[in-house]
Amino acid sequence: MTLPRSTAELRALDAAHHLHPFSDNRALGAEGTRVIVKAEGVWLTDSEGNRILDGMSGLWCVNVGYGRDEIVDAVAAQMRELPYYNTFFKTTHQPAIDLAAKLAELTPPQFSRVFFTGSGSESNDTVIKLVRRYFQIKEKPEKRIIISRRNAYHGSTVAAGSLGGMAPMHEQSAPIPDVVHIAQPYWWGEARQGETPEEFGLRTARALEATIDALGEDRIAAFIAEPVQGAGGVIVPPATYWPEIARICRERDILFISDEVICGFGRTGQWFGCQTFGTQPDMLVMAKGITSGYMPLGGVMVADRVVEVLLEGGDFNHGYTYSGHPAACAAALANLDIMVREQLVERVANDAGPYLAARWRALAEHPLVGEAPMVGLVGALELTPDKLGRTKFPDVGKVGTLARDYSFRNGLVMRAVRDRLIIAPPLVISHGEMDELIARARKTLDETYAELKRWGWVR
Ligand code: PMP
Repeated sequence: MTLPRSTAELRALDAAHHLHPFSDNRALGAEGTRVIVKAEGVWLTDSEGNRILDGMSGLWCVNVGYGRDEIVDAVAAQMRELPYYNTFFKTTHQPAIDLAAKLAELTPPQFSRVFFTGSGSESNDTVIKLVRRYFQIKEKPEKRIIISRRNAYHGSTVAAGSLGGMAPMHEQSAPIPDVVHIAQPYWWGEARQGETPEEFGLRTARALEATIDALGEDRIAAFIAEPVQGAGGVIVPPATYWPEIARICRERDILFISDEVICGFGRTGQWFGCQTFGTQPDMLVMAKGITSGYMPLGGVMVADRVVEVLLEGGDFNHGYTYSGHPAACAAALANLDIMVREQLVERVANDAGPYLAARWRALAEHPLVGEAPMVGLVGALELTPDKLGRTKFPDVGKVGTLARDYSFRNGLVMRAVRDRLIIAPPLVISHGEMDELIARARKTLDETYAELKRWGWVR
């Protein structure tokens, strides 16, 4: 393939003109970015012709894999027919209508309505306004506080970044008021010595109850959480955690919001993560997998009992130019057709998920790996110098980045979060490709281990 510009030229222009998200742009400019030119199935090709297995589905979104002409054709057809119209002032269009109806069918029974957005961040901003409007209409305007968790990721707009619990983000942009963060259910990293995962799961769940009591239930509007914390490092909660959270949410007058931006659309082996973990959300936040990333789109499903109240309140003063964008909705409809026809959710639950999990969990035997959890097709490897003592490496993040770079050189995209390697491959990944993924991950661990021996960081 001949590119219109050489890789060197592309890198130079990128360094000169492009500010990348979540990057040290000076270091990146000096090092040079990797230019991705095309993709098919689970394979990326870069501008130097390297084929790389995309263990992260882009940014956790390309659930049906790359190269799906069906989605491309649906978008092209829609763009020819009606490339844009809004859904604000008493107008609508068929792609938004069809998608809204489809989502009502696919989501748990308490949901029949969706508010469309353009992204996960916009969806979570919408959640804040919906939650507060709900309690205003119920004449409880003092119920404003939203409880979230440390190390959660809910997006990077001012409000969604505040809901998230990422300290490095809060250091650069102070969170908005009335958001409170409680402990995350990260047993490996945060349990006390001798505390079992079950005990720890209960203790962290009960932090929700304790916080509601400490601040006053009359001031708390909602609790928001990802079923599995994704960007925080694929934190899979102990089995006791979600049932206890579900109990607390049932007993208290607060709304529960499941942020399914990563876990939604099959990732955990059910359509939504709340179904995998048995919770009953009042709002369900979606983006990413709704279109498999082919077009930007997000949404918030709102439970009927909440909608009933909102409908009492007249105008809801909120919306985006691209709420329900017709071409994005067309992409979502084609994507969901593929997921249903190819039974990708069932495939994750009964075939691909168990196949990969068995091999992934075996990586926990590697001397560098502390734990290797996996749910559906999302997993993590905690890297540690001492698995029994659950010790962390000095200079957190250095070993993770080292391993991530080896992985890239081995032709596998894994992401590093602190010293945790994470994967979330496309749901269509074949058995052969999963074997390849495991082989490359193992090679990465071996190379990282050898390097750490040279540093004297492991024995
Ligand atoms: N919520 C969760 C759970 C996410 O993982 C993300 C993105 N990684 C977001 C919200 C924000 O989505 P977006 O980047 O589309 O704004």
